Parts: sequence; C-alpha cells; structure tokens
Amino acid sequence: HPTPPPPCRSAALPGSATCTQRACAGRAAPVVPVRRGPAPGAAEPSGTEPGPGAAMAQPAGPAAACPVQNQMMHSSDAQGYNPAVPGSYSHPKVPPHQPSGQYNYSGSQNVSQFNSYQGPGQTLNRPPVAPLSGSPVQQTGPVPQVPPPALQNSAAISSAGSFPPGAGPPMLSNWQYSQSAVSHPAGTPPSHLAPGTGTGSAQPSPSLSGNTNPPGSYQYAASPGGPSLHNSFMKPATPHPSPAPPNLKMNRNVGYSYPALPPGYQNTSPPGAPGMQASALQYPDGSKHFHQPPLGTNHLTASMGSLSLQQEGLRPVNLLQERNILPTTILQAPVPNLHEDIQKLNCNPELFRCTLTNIPQTQALLNKAKLPLGLLLHPFKDLSQLPVVTSSTIVRCRSCRTYINPFVSFLDQRRWKCNLCYRVNDVPEEFMYNPVTRVYGEPHKRPEVQNATIEFMAPSEYMLRPPQPPVYLFVFDVSHNAIETGYLNTVCKTLLDNLDLLPGNTRTKIGFITFDSTIHFYSLQEGLSQPQMLIVSDIEDVFIPMPENLLVNLNENKELIQDLLRTLPQMFTKSLETQSALGPALQAAFKLMSPTGGRISVFQTQLPSVGMGALKSREEPNQRATAKDIHLTPSTDFYKKLALDCSGQQVAVDLFLLSGQYSDLASLGCISRYSAGSVYYYQSYHHKHNPVQVEKLQKELKRYLTRKIGFEAVMRIRCTKGLSIHTFHGNFFVRSTDLLSLPNVNPDAGYAVQMSVEESLTDMQVVSFQSALLYTSSKGERRIRVHTMCLPVVTTLSDVYAGADVQAITGLLANMAVDRSVSATLSDARDALVNAVIDSLSAYRSSVLSIQQPGLMAPSSLRLFPLYVLALLKQKAFQTGTNARLDERIFTMCQVKNQPLVYLMLMTHPSLYRVDNLTDEGALNINDRTIPQPPILQLSVEKLSRDGAYLMDAGSVMFLWIGKNCGQSFISQVLGVPNYGSIPQNMTHLPELETAESIRTIAFVSWLREQRPFFPILYIIKDDSPLKSSFLQNMIEDRTESALSYYEFLLHIQQQVNK
Ligand SMILES: [Zn+2]
Repeated sequence: HPTPPPPCRSAALPGSATCTQRACAGRAAPVVPVRRGPAPGAAEPSGTEPGPGAAMAQPAGPAAACPVQNQMMHSSDAQGYNPAVPGSYSHPKVPPHQPSGQYNYSGSQNVSQFNSYQGPGQTLNRPPVAPLSGSPVQQTGPVPQVPPPALQNSAAISSAGSFPPGAGPPMLSNWQYSQSAVSHPAGTPPSHLAPGTGTGSAQPSPSLSGNTNPPGSYQYAASPGGPSLHNSFMKPATPHPSPAPPNLKMNRNVGYSYPALPPGYQNTSPPGAPGMQASALQYPDGSKHFHQPPLGTNHLTASMGSLSLQQEGLRPVNLLQERNILPTTILQAPVPNLHEDIQKLNCNPELFRCTLTNIPQTQALLNKAKLPLGLLLHPFKDLSQLPVVTSSTIVRCRSCRTYINPFVSFLDQRRWKCNLCYRVNDVPEEFMYNPVTRVYGEPHKRPEVQNATIEFMAPSEYMLRPPQPPVYLFVFDVSHNAIETGYLNTVCKTLLDNLDLLPGNTRTKIGFITFDSTIHFYSLQEGLSQPQMLIVSDIEDVFIPMPENLLVNLNENKELIQDLLRTLPQMFTKSLETQSALGPALQAAFKLMSPTGGRISVFQTQLPSVGMGALKSREEPNQRATAKDIHLTPSTDFYKKLALDCSGQQVAVDLFLLSGQYSDLASLGCISRYSAGSVYYYQSYHHKHNPVQVEKLQKELKRYLTRKIGFEAVMRIRCTKGLSIHTFHGNFFVRSTDLLSLPNVNPDAGYAVQMSVEESLTDMQVVSFQSALLYTSSKGERRIRVHTMCLPVVTTLSDVYAGADVQAITGLLANMAVDRSVSATLSDARDALVNAVIDSLSAYRSSVLSIQQPGLMAPSSLRLFPLYVLALLKQKAFQTGTNARLDERIFTMCQVKNQPLVYLMLMTHPSLYRVDNLTDEGALNINDRTIPQPPILQLSVEKLSRDGAYLMDAGSVMFLWIGKNCGQSFISQVLGVPNYGSIPQNMTHLPELETAESIRTIAFVSWLREQRPFFPILYIIKDDSPLKSSFLQNMIEDRTESALSYYEFLLHIQQQVNK
C-alpha cells in the first residue's frame, strides 16, 4: 500500500526551510526517497508515521496475551562526554603576535613547498590498477536541484521567522553603545521604527510558500464529530477545589516583600487582575467530573498549586528597580496550569517543553502576545527509567495515527477518544488486559496510558527491511597538517580502548578510510596477517576497491582491527602531503556505506583543497569586526547534496574538525547537518601546544563512541488539531511535510519547532503534543519512543504571559536568530532579538498592565527575558566585535541548533558560584559523595570580591577565577600552591588533596561536569591571566567594548517600550 508521494511543496530542509525543488529532486533522485507511507524498497520503515490516508489496519493481535516489560534502561548520563566548544568562550590560542586581529589563514599556501612529494611510501599494497566492476560514478542520476541556501532560508525566515510571530520584523538601526557616548550610554540610540516600517530585515514575502503547509491538507483526516465530539470530553459537574478569590491571591502577591520597591508601588492595585480573574474562573467553569468510574485522567481542572504559581508568573516586576531577579538555583521550567492528576502524568520538561505553557486560543491572541510559539525537544535523552512495552498491538488513533497516551479520554471501557483529532476509537481486545495489575477491563491503567514517555518494541510492520547491523566507518585526515596535530594518536588510542564498548551486537561492522591527496582503504579480510592498504589516486572518479573486505565484522576481525589502530598513527609520520581530498573521501565513504547505512565519523584538520568539494578561504580579517557580509552560508552545495544522498541511504556523517586555521565550517558542516550527524570542533588542536584539548577530545570521543545510538530513524511530531508546526530546527532532513529523517539519532541532540494556531482552539481546555521516534537499536530491535505533553488553552493575554517559559522562548529565538543570520544578516538577527523583547514588553504594558507605572515593567515570568536576550547578543554566535573567528561563530550556531535547551542556556548565560567558602549546608548527597550547592551569582564583576575565588560554568568551558587577596587556605588547600604568586599561568587541573576544601571543590566541579555529555576544560585564572578577558566576556551584565551593560540595555528597551 504505497502512498503516492506528497505534493512537491511538502519537503522541507532542516534549518527551517521548505523548498519546492528539494521535494522534486528528492523524488527524482532515488537515493532521497520522499514518501509518507511505507514505500516498497525504501530503506527505512515509516510504518509508524503514515499519513492519514495511509491509516494502517491494526493487526489483530493475540488477545490478552501481551507481555509488558517494564524494563529499566541503563542510563549513561554520567558516564561520559560529548561535543564541546573550547573556542566558544576562550581563545587560548589567539595568536598574540597579531595584535591587530589580522589573521592570514590559507589552507593551501604551503602546498608548493611540498610539491616534490612523491606519494606515500607507506603503501602496504599496490593499488589496483583499474577501476573495479563498473566503478559507479557518484552522481549519475539527476542531481537534486539545491537552491542556494541563502535563498531557501530567506523564504523560511520571511514566512515564519518574524520575531515574534505575526509581527513584521521592525528594522532597528544599530542601537549599540558607541564608545564616545560614555556619559549617556544608551542615550542616543537611533529610533526604533515602528513595526511595518521595517525595510531591511524582512524579505518581501509574496513567494512564501514557506513552511506553513496548511495542516488541513494532510495532517488530520476530518474527524466525524469534530468539536461536537469534543463536548463529550467535558465531564458532568462535580465539586471542584474552588480556587481562592482572586483578590485574596493578589493580597498574597502584594505580600511578597521587595524592599527595593517604593511603598507607592506596593499599594497600587494589582495590574492584570481582570485577566487573572478570568483565569481563575475559567477552569472551575469548564471543569466537570466524570461520572463514570475513573478511567484515566479526566480532571482537566486547574489545580490550586499551579494556579498560584501561574499568578506569580504574572506579578509585575519593575526591571529597572529590581536588580536581584536571578534565582540562586538553576531556573526550573514553569509548571503547566493543569489539574495535578494530569500534571503528574505530564512529560518531563527536560524532554519536551513549550515556549508557552498556556496555549493561546487563537493566532490573533498569539500575535498580540508577541512571543514565539514552539516546542523544544530532547527526545532521545538518556533516561534512568523508561517503561518499555512489548505488545503485539500498538494502540494508535485510526485517523491521525497518534499513539494512545495519558491524555486521551475513555468514553467507556471499549472506546477511547483521540486527544489530537478527537476521533473515537475502539479499544482492542488485547488492550483490555492490564499486564501490570493482571486485571481485565482496566484499559486506562495500561502503562501506555500511565506514562507520557514510553518505548514500544515495534512489530514487523514498522520495518521495510530487516533492521541493519550497526556499521561504523572512520575516515581520517592523514595529511601532513593532520599528522602535525597529533590527533590520530589520541583518536586511535581512544578507539582501541573503547572498541568493545561500541554499541552493537555480534553483527557490528567496522571499517577505515584515510586520505590526503589520495584515498586509502584498508582490507581487513579474515586470514590476512596484517591489514592491507589500498590506495585510490583517481579522486575525480572515486571507486571502491574490493568492496567486500573493507567493512568487516568487528568481533571476527578484532585482532586485525586492533593491529591497524596501533599502526595507523605511525604510518604517515613522514608524509609531506599537504593536500586534502575530503570530498572524494566522503564520496567513497558514502558508496561503502550505501548498502547498509550506518555512521561515518570523519576527522578533518584543514580546508579541503583538491577534488570535489575543494574550498577556498573566505575569512577576511577586516570583516570580522563588523556584522555585515560575513560568510555564514556554504560556498558550495557539494556537502549538502552529499548529505542528502547519505540521508537517503540511512547514513549519518559526524564531523570532527580539529583545526587552527579557517576551514570553512559553514560549508563543511552541511555534511552533518543534513544527514542528522553532529559537529565537533577543537579549535587549534595540538597534542603538544594545546595539551588540555587532548583530554577534552579523549573524554568526548569516549562518550561519542559509547553512547546510545539509533539507526534508520524517523521522527514525527503531532499536535492537536488546530495547531500547526511550520518550521523545524536541528540536524536532519525534513522529508514529506513533517517527517524528520534521522539516519542516526543520539542522546545528546536537541530539536526545536515553531508552531502557529491555524484554527482557533475554541471550546478546548487542553491541547496535546506528541513526538514519536522510530529507530533501530544497536541490538537490531525496531523501537518507538513516544513522548506526549498536555497543556491548557487560554483566552486572555495575561494568561499567555503568566505561562511563558522564558528559557524555552530564549532557546527558540536563538534558533530563529541563526536562521535569520544566515538568510539575512547578523545585524538583522540581532535586531530581531532585541525587538522580541521590546515588542512583548510593549504588548504587556499596553494590554495587560491596567495601571501604567514608571519604569520598565515585565511579568515575573519574563523578568529574565531582557537578560537572556542580552546574553544571546554577547554570545559567540551573535556578537559583534573582533573576538569571534568565523569558524568559531559558525560552530556556536551549530550548537544553538543542535543542543538540548539546558546546555544552550548554560552556554548563553553561564552560572557563577563563589567557591572559596563552600559548605555542606544544603549539599546534595549522591553515592556517599557530598556535593556542595553554592548559590548562583549575577554575572557582574560587582559580584566578585578580591578575597574570594569564583567558578564560572559556561557549559563547555569553566573558569576558576582567583582573587588577588584570596584566602591562603583556599590557595594552599585547594590549589596546592603556597601563595597567589605561585599559581601557574596555565593551570587546568585541580590537584586531588586530602583536605576538606579540596574534596568539596573537586566534588562540585566533577558533579557539574557529570551533568553533561561533553567535557568542559577548567581554566584557573588570575588577574594577569591572558584568559581573563574570556572570563570577563561572560560577565553578561557588564559593559564590554562593543556591547551594552544590562542596565544600559534595560534603559534602551524602556525607551522603545514607552514610545
Ligand atoms: Zn487522532
């Protein structure tokens, strides 16, 4: 039952673009199949995600014989590390001899001096003379028409990326603080043009077929009953925990004592009271009880607890007066305003989060709020506990294919109503038996209905071919430049150490390719006494010599593989070959992997210089200071096209870039971005000159090699009828409208989507969102991981603000700003970020605050919004000034797009702790370790005292700043040196001393490191340390050469808001 391919417009690209040509190209080129239903011969089963037209018959499973296993999944959360960015926050290797900031990158300038090089003398075997059978040419078929990325992204942006949605992005001229105006820091910003008068940033949007595919056309088959059916969702009236009268609550709010507030403010009647009244009344009114025996979760009423939390979210805060708005502990996600019985079943916000925990009923209301609506996902996160269901019947809505979940309603024991499309479905016979309680007739107690996060073992109809073995191919740059860095030693050693920990089974296959100006293959055939090297020097027409012995079974050929890993680092030490044929090497890797799919890990140390995909340096030093015309877009579509080919064959490419020179990550990164891979960047990696990076690479590579991996994956995100997803952020290829193609999925990747309200959500109390990730485990099982989140619908602006999730909003805006930077300019992106703050606070001021007050007012839920946006503006991805090298900037943008929210927030707004006076008060106790929990401080030098020591945790890098007058005991008992003067300049490790202070400090730093999948380098710095400027750069609240202080920024915002 193959479904016809969807209309052309339905295929979008990662990075939020929808592109008509792509879909066509995808169908023309068989390697990028575009399909929705199961397509015969297609590589990956999409059975889990057929469109409505392809509703699959529910298999009639054996009744009442459904073993459910509540397995505990092993957590690997704390075991290792993942990609990180030393360069993002520190510049240990900024060449000091170039004070003017002039760099002369030239990937190929040394070539001529090595021209006499005759070729590798290390050949283990003669290369085959002639191409083998047929030697297929890479792109014989129609080549996908890839429109210029800028063009394609601009379409996406102008359709969906207006910040905030619905508002035309106003053109704000650069308001940046100019140094001459010291006495009036923000006094003379050019005027903020009103929305609609913007000129530069918005693309004219007539041509925007954009990403806004009308969902009605594909997403949900019209449900017979529609809203009328929905009415039965409402329960007969019952006593409801009546919320306290609104003014009582207001009294309590007023009772918060904020000494900084002048009495006059405390006495003003609470703004926003009408809105809150509405909210307080709405839920009681709508909430009615289910008269039947409790079948699942039927209490859709607001709970007292979260209601008062929400009202706290609406408390007006004068940002110019309240300086201490930063919480002293990590900010938690807001709790949705749902009845506690429902909320306790809701998805963990670490996995699934919405920018607005109160969903506006209409697009008009959303537009009014000037806040972006979207979801942030971390779908494959390592979990310590995950219910896994093995059942022959996976219960899904027959209409929209939603998986049964805690937020459906049971009309009776035999019928359940879908919470996404409202279709009434039958409960299959098998589902009537609950294997947990061993009772018949309790379908609502099944684990599927009790867990918002669950994994299913997928039966065979979820496969289009048998699950493939895990296949790992490593591709190493062995040019002179690469050998110089010494990386191959570290990588081969780490791989040797972790060979047995690669996720897989007896079928696991592995292979190796190395390359400089030629491509070298390694035959690992059983029976050989040593690996055989095969050199292919025709890089214009790459072929695979003896394809059968290049990817071999890991277990059966382990000795040869270990042999190769031991010899590889030495094999090229005398090589003088400087050329890099990365493109042809990747083409060869793709050919080798095509039959099975799998993972390619490519290590590259320079700009590719020969063959397909060769690049030229584009970084011009004098452009680094400005936000204009920097090269954020790829210079060739070679890597993107190849990535799409890879995606079509279930191959993902992970790029490890270890380079001190400009390597055009904007172009190279496409190979990972579109194939659902990851990018790792080790700026200025050198085993001797930059030893601290060696440890980082080791740790992160270990995590990379041993972390969970899913193959042949697809993900679909569904939401309740009326809502529509229109833009996707992350590393993947959007196939057929809303099906994300993920040849590999890893537990450290995050995703984001933007949404709009297509049809008003009238009469709905709640809406739901569900992500379903279908993948092949490394053990060869087909599995589906499902997350479902339920959120209330609101009708007033004040309720929308009350439920705003400022971190999720910041994260989504950061993703949108990356797109804007690429499609338009960096300054457009920066303006859009600033405008997002101005517009939302203006809307709040004019539409929610009932009494106008002086100052800059924000609802408490958004009190950190200006601070976080300022932090984004100062972040490597979006900052101006001379600090950001192009590849560093691009890499930070990659991270914004691909990291889960929690890490994105940490790299945007680091956490600062005082650590010279750590105590056990309030400490955590984990596995007999006592972990101190010092309060988080504001990011300002005002908070630093010269007699203290402070730890700044910026996610992928940490700084321990030691004050000049720091206590002797800390210096000797934690750093192990006699005094301040003897602290070494480049100290990066805390010695393990037997003192209480040392144990506490190390426990705290290790605990922070264990929380994340990458390994932050710790730099211990003093006043005269060259890294001090990196440390100070992260002091978001302070003024820097090129950016406003927080207070100046607030004044600027206030000026615009009050216009
Ligand atoms: Zn449905």
